[in-house]
Amino acid sequence: MAKRALVTGGAGQDGSYLIDLLLAHGYEVHAQSRRQQRDDRTGVTWHTGDLTDPVFLENLIKSAEADEIYNLAAASHTQMVWDEPIEAAQLNALVPQQICEIIRRHSRASRLFQASSAAIYGDSASNTQNETTPCDPRTPYGIAKFYAHRLVGAYREKYGLHLTSGILFNHESPRRPLSFVSQKIAHAAAAVHLGLTETKEKDEFGDPLLSNGKVKLGNLDAKRDFGFAGDYAEAIYAVLQGATADDYVIGTGECHSIREFCKAAFEVVGLNWENHVTQDQSRVRSIDASIICADASKLRNQFGWQPTMTFNGLVKLMVEHRIEAIRSGR
Ligand code: NAP
Repeated sequence: MAKRALVTGGAGQDGSYLIDLLLAHGYEVHAQSRRQQRDDRTGVTWHTGDLTDPVFLENLIKSAEADEIYNLAAASHTQMVWDEPIEAAQLNALVPQQICEIIRRHSRASRLFQASSAAIYGDSASNTQNETTPCDPRTPYGIAKFYAHRLVGAYREKYGLHLTSGILFNHESPRRPLSFVSQKIAHAAAAVHLGLTETKEKDEFGDPLLSNGKVKLGNLDAKRDFGFAGDYAEAIYAVLQGATADDYVIGTGECHSIREFCKAAFEVVGLNWENHVTQDQSRVRSIDASIICADASKLRNQFGWQPTMTFNGLVKLMVEHRIEAIRSGR
C-alpha cells in the first residue's frame, strides 16, 4: 500500500519541491493551502483552509491519516512577521504545538517534520551553527520558530513520538517569492539584462523592485548559507525516514555575502553589479544576524546528504528563470 504524507504549506517553495519528491517515491500526498489550488499532478489531494482554525486542523490530520506529516506552513518573511507578530506567532508557534497534541491524542504512529529555522540562533557568537549551538532568537519570527522547535523536542522526549525538527538555513530557488533578497537580486539582474530600468513588481516598502536601473537592498555584508530548495526537500525527506527522530541542521556549510550574491547574479548576464545595486540605510535591519552558516555534519554523517547545487549554479538558475518569467509576463 502507498504511504501517505500530509504537507502543510504545500503551495510554498519547499512544499512544491517536497510534493514532487514524495510523488516520485510513490506516496499518496495530501496538501494544505489557504487558497484553492489547481494541480495537474496525479496523487495529490488538496485541502483548503487555515491551520489556525483548530477544527480545520484537527479534521485535516484525522482525515489524512498520514504516515508522515511535514509542517512547512509559516509566515516565513522576517520583516512581514514584524508587521503581524500575533497572527504569525499563532501559525509559527501554536499550530506546531497543536499538531503535536493532535498526533499524541489521535495519530501516534504519524511521524512529524517541523520546519524550524536558523533564525532561532539570532546573532550567534559562533561562525557556524549546529544542533548544540546556543539559541538567542531576536525577532518574532525566530522566537516563534524557537518555541515550536523546543516544543517538538519536548513532546518527542516525553511521549516517545517520532517528531523531528529540521533547522533550515536559507534556501532559494526560482519558486521563492520576490519578497526575498535572493529573488530581488535575480529579478533586478534579469530585468536590466532585458533593457528595463523600472519594473512593476514592488518590494515590502511599496517601491518598485527596479527603479532607474537600480535595486535597493539592506545590509550587503550580511552572510548567509544559501542552499537550493530542491536539495533541501531531499534532506527533509531523508531525516524523516530515520529510525529515530531528532533535531537536524540542514544547510550547505558554505557562506556568501549579499554582495557576493549580487556580483554572481549580474555576472550571469555580463554586467557589473555595482552599477545596479544600492545599499539603502532604511532597509538595513536594526536586528539581524551578521553571519549564518550551517554545520550540518550530523545530517551528513547519518544520512549522507550532500547538496547537489553549487552557489553559482543556484544564482544562474534563478537569474535565467527570472529572464524567462519577465519575458513571458509572469
Ligand atoms: P513559503 O514559500 O513562504 O511557504 C510557506 C507557506 O505557508 C506559504 O506558501 C503559505 O501557504 C503558508 N503561509 C504563509 N503565511 C501564512 C499565514 N500568515 N497564515 C497561514 N499560512 C501562511 O516558505 P518556504 O520557503 O517554502 O519555507 C517552508 C518552511 O521552512 C517555513 O516554515 C519556513 O519558515 C521554513 N524555513 C524556510 C527557509 C528558507 O530559506 N526558505 C529558511 C528557514 C526556515 P498558502 O498561502 O498556500 O496558504
